[in-house]
Parts: sequence; C-alpha cells; structure tokens
Amino acid sequence: MVKAAVLKAIGRLEVEDFPRPEIGSKALLMRVELCGICGTDIHLYHGRLQVPLPIIPGHEFVGRIEEIDEEARGLEVLGHELSEGDLITVVPGTNAFCGTCYHCRFTPQRPTLCQNRRVLGVNMSCREPPHLYGGWSEYVYVDAGHWWVYRVPEGMPPEVAVLTEPMAVSTRALERAFEPGFPTSDEGFSLGSTVVVQGVGPIGLLCVAAARLMGAGKIIAIDALDHRLRMAERMGADHIIDLKAYRTSEERVAEVERLTGGVGADVVIECAGVPSAFPEGIAMTRRGGRFIEVGHFTDPGGVEIRPHIICWKDIDILGCWAYPPAQFRKALKALEMGMREFPLEEFVTDRFRVEEAPEALRYAEQRRGLKVVITP
Ligand SMILES: [Zn+2]
Ligand SMILES: [Zn+2]
Repeated sequence: MVKAAVLKAIGRLEVEDFPRPEIGSKALLMRVELCGICGTDIHLYHGRLQVPLPIIPGHEFVGRIEEIDEEARGLEVLGHELSEGDLITVVPGTNAFCGTCYHCRFTPQRPTLCQNRRVLGVNMSCREPPHLYGGWSEYVYVDAGHWWVYRVPEGMPPEVAVLTEPMAVSTRALERAFEPGFPTSDEGFSLGSTVVVQGVGPIGLLCVAAARLMGAGKIIAIDALDHRLRMAERMGADHIIDLKAYRTSEERVAEVERLTGGVGADVVIECAGVPSAFPEGIAMTRRGGRFIEVGHFTDPGGVEIRPHIICWKDIDILGCWAYPPAQFRKALKALEMGMREFPLEEFVTDRFRVEEAPEALRYAEQRRGLKVVITP
C-alpha cells in the first residue's frame, strides 16, 4: 500500500492508503524524497481554486525512480537514459497542450493558458487508478510519455532540487521583464537593471536570486518578516525595506526613489499577493519601466488604481501565470549556478511526514519557516 495525504473536501485533509499501482507503458513510479508546500496548497485547502476533489496535493516534488517501464527509459527531457535510483523532478503541468482549445491553437507559445490544463497535485483527482497524482505521498505515478521528466543534475541534493518548480515560476517572472533586444534602449530587464521584489516568501526570494544570477544591478527586497529579509540579503539583495520600519506606502516609495537616484526601479516584481502592493509597486516603477504581477494567484479582492499614473509613466504591466514545461531546464540551471553563490541548501527549513500533512499546512500558513516540505 501507498500512504498519501488526501484533500477530501475543502478544509478536510486526511491520510489514506492506496494500492501500489502496476506500471503501465511509458510510465514510472517515483518514490518521493521531498515535496514542497506552496501558497497554492493553502489556497486549495481553503477552497479558493476550483478543482475536482479528492486530490493528493503537492506539485513541487523530487524523488527517485523506484520502478520504470522499458519504454520510459529514453523519455527524459534532455535525453538522459533513466534508470532505477535516479533523482528526478517532474513538471506538474502535464499534457500542457491539449492541442484543441482556443489558446492551444492560436497562442501555442503560451501553453499555460490551455483551457484544459491538467496539473499534478492541483487539479488531477485521485479518485481513479492509478490514484497517485500528487506529491504529498510516498509515491507518484509518472506518465513519462506525456509528462516532462527531468533528471536532477549531478551533485544537486534533493533539498535544492525541490526548489525547481518555484524557481521555474521566478525565472519566468524575470523573463517576462526581458528587454526586447535593442541594446541601448533600456527597456525592461537587462544587465545592471534595478529590481524591486515586493514580498520575499519563497517565490520572491528566488526572484531575488534569479535577478542576481541574470545580471541585475541594485536589488531591493521588501517584506515584514525578519527571517525572510535576512535570507533576501543572502540571496543577493543589496537593500531591504522592512515594512516595520517603513510603515506607509509613501515612505516605501520614497525609499525606492532615494535608492534609484530619484527615477524609480527599472523592474518591479509583485510577489506579495496583497492588493495594495499593486499600486505601490507601480508607484515604485520608473517611467518607461516594467511591472510584473506574480503574487495574485488567487483573488483576494481589488484596490483603487489611478489609470493616469500608468498612462503618464508609459509603463508595461505584465501578468505572469505559471510557466511552460521548458522552464524547468532554466530553473535547474539557475539552481545549479545558484548553489555556488547562495545558501540554497538552507531554503528548506521544516520537514513533516505525510501523516503530519494537516499540521504541516497550518505551520506553512503561519509563515514561520521558509520552505516547508513533506518527506514521506
Ligand atoms: Zn507552487
Ligand atoms: Zn488547450
């Protein structure tokens, strides 16, 4: 039998045993080493996302191949031969291209907009066999024929590899801000750009690290929690703005202006998911700059916007919804590079067993640690 935590109804998370599945054609069984708890899981628990229950939550997982079908051995994304014991990570956005919806047909370069997108640990019900479609479990059933399986690079421990999924989110957020390719235009993000990251939970922290790795100039991190701000500095932030010291929006905007020679930041990335951070971030963005919205994965309500500011500033405001499966390659590269510069192995601060999942969720919700993980 396989033990897994199951979200049976909104607010009801229970441990359940499933039969260990037979391996089908082009499939493999992954023994989970670590699976991150993410804001999305908290949203799911509280019913803020429409998904078919029951589900096994967990979309940020890394594990070892326990059993593999012969036909799956050659299906690793970068061409590595897969074998038992290999450490792997899997893109949770499976079958990312249904191929037939409006967006698959007309905007195929944006696979996350597919109307029939299926995401492991988020909207794939565990009702039908093989059941194991989420990471808060001893095993995940991986259909390598349709899903993107990446072998973890040599020398990268599971504690770092478990950050691949959030790093995919963060690197894509940065890439949304890339300049259009005119070297002297100073449009968007490029070498030496000043970057503000609003909210340095795991996604914001990895945005800081990604910005540093991609050649940012001054990086300014904003948050209220000391342990996050300290980590932001270790991840490459040059300045921090502590919400406890800069209590009003005006003070924080003034501080960003002071730190950017009076012009504002080239790029601002909103990772707080708090509505008031949106107009504040726009106020921090320089004229002609770029503002990226990543934090509002669910809808906590609205905020007053002054459209004139957007018009006057001539700024780009861009949304960011997940990432294409190819993003994992870049995320793993960023983690490999980041391991040399940042304390990525200290990112996982708390571990809970599968049967402690309800407790782990509550703990993560209190934001005491950085990355809280489930380890079977
Ligand atoms: Zn996540
Ligand atoms: Zn589609």
